[in-house]
Amino acid sequence: MSASDFSQRLLAWFDRHGRHDLPWQQDINPYRVWVSEIMLQQTQVGTVIPYYQRFMARFPDVASLADAPLDQVLHHWSGLGYYARARNLHKAAQVVRDQHGGRFPEDIEALQSLPGIGRSTAGAILALACGQRQPILDGNVKRVLARHRAVEGWSGETVVLRDLWCLAEAHTPAERVAEYTQAIMDLGATVCTRSRPACGRCPVAEDCRARLEGRTGELPAPRPKRVQPLRETCMLMVTTPEGVLLEQRPARGLWGGLWGFPEVDDEASALAWCRASLGLEPQRLEAWNPFIHTFTHFRLRITPLRVSLQDPAGCVMEAPGRVWYNTRTSSGLGLAAPVAQLLEKLDL
Ligand code: SF4
Repeated sequence: MSASDFSQRLLAWFDRHGRHDLPWQQDINPYRVWVSEIMLQQTQVGTVIPYYQRFMARFPDVASLADAPLDQVLHHWSGLGYYARARNLHKAAQVVRDQHGGRFPEDIEALQSLPGIGRSTAGAILALACGQRQPILDGNVKRVLARHRAVEGWSGETVVLRDLWCLAEAHTPAERVAEYTQAIMDLGATVCTRSRPACGRCPVAEDCRARLEGRTGELPAPRPKRVQPLRETCMLMVTTPEGVLLEQRPARGLWGGLWGFPEVDDEASALAWCRASLGLEPQRLEAWNPFIHTFTHFRLRITPLRVSLQDPAGCVMEAPGRVWYNTRTSSGLGLAAPVAQLLEKLDL
C-alpha cells in the first residue's frame, strides 16, 4: 500500500466520520489553532472546549493575549493544569507582537523558536491554519503510525522517533493537508485509542500490521521501566543500657541534618569503627536481615548490624553531633524513616 493510499483512505473516512465542528475549526487562523494545540497537549477535547471558548472570548487575538497581565492569562487557564503552558503562551504572544509585527510567522523554524512550540505543534499550526504540507507527530499520530507500520521501540528513543517522523512525513499528502492532519489526529483520538482500539471501524485496518499480527496491545511500546540502581550500606546499632548511639548527619546530602546510625561498608569495617570511635573491641556483632529502602532515583539495601555493649564505661558518651538515644529520654530528634523503623524493633 502506498502512502498516498493511506492518506486517501483517511480523508474519505474523515469526510464521513471526522470531527468538523470543534470551536478551533471555525474562523481558522494560526492564533486560534495554536491556542487549541497547546490546550490539547495534556488535556482531552471535552475538557478543553469550555476553557477554549472562555479564553477566546477574553483574548480573541494574539495582541490581546500579549497585552494582558500574566495573572489574567493564568486565571483563564486555572483548572487546566500544567501552567508552564499558559506562561509560554503569554511569552510567545509577546514575541509575536514585538518581533513579528503581531503576525504569526509562517515559517516552521521561526515558529519552533517561539516558547512552548515544538516541531509537532509548529507543523499542526502551519498545516491546519495555512494548508502548508507539514507533518505532525503528537501522541495520537505516533500511536496510529507505530501500530499501522509495527514500529518497534519506545518513541522516547531518538532512533524510534526519527523513524516515526519519516513515516509522518511520507504519509502527509500534498493536497488537503489540513483535513488529513485533523483526520489522523481524530483517528488516534476516537478509533485507534490507547486501549482496545476499534479496528473494525478503522479505514486503514486492512494493512495494519499491529492488527494483522495481533499486537495492538503491545504497540506502541511503552516507556521502559527505569531500573533503579541499588546501593548498599550497613547501619551500625551500638546499644548500651543507656541507649543506642545516633549521630547527626551532615547538613547536605542524603537525609541531611537528620539523626541516624553510623554507617559502614561491612562487618570488618564495623569492628574497625568500634575500635577507632569507641575505643572498644566488641565481643559480638549481630547481623539482622537486610531490607530495601526506596528513594526516587535509587534503592538502598540496608544491613543492620547490632553491637551490644553491657559496660559502656570508657566509651565516649556524649559529643557534639552524637547522642545515646532511648525512648524515655530522647524525643524531638529528626530521624530518617529506616532509622525510626529500626529503633522500634530495638525496643529500647
Ligand atoms: S487497525 Fe486498529 S490498530 Fe491498526 S491503525 Fe486501525 S485502529 Fe489502530
